[in-house]
Amino acid sequence: MEEVETRRKEEADLKTTLEAAEKALEAKTKQYKSAARVFTKEIKELTGQRAEMAKSIPPALLRRYDAFRAAKNGLGIGKIEEGRCSACHTNLPSNLVRIVENTDRVELCENCGRILCVLP
Ligand SMILES: [Zn+2]
Repeated sequence: MEEVETRRKEEADLKTTLEAAEKALEAKTKQYKSAARVFTKEIKELTGQRAEMAKSIPPALLRRYDAFRAAKNGLGIGKIEEGRCSACHTNLPSNLVRIVENTDRVELCENCGRILCVLP
């Protein structure tokens, strides 16, 4: 008889635990869906902005960039920061940095192969 009472108590505790877990899952699912809506909207806006900005890039350069981007896990360009490639953090030769800073030539990082750029 005592064992039956013990098992009923365990069952009640487990039911309480299950209900709490289901409520937590429901809350997390609601959070996830809300965040997904926000990110989907943001992706749509940024995709539109990218398409608009890409119109000013010469088509051959854009194709080259897109190929690097596809081959390099979505990051086809490295910004030069303090003489380093921001993508792979490798120190770049100073003459290469000067070329990128002072010309319109398309140069690649010698380590990761991404296009290098300088931003103001
Ligand atoms: Zn690099």
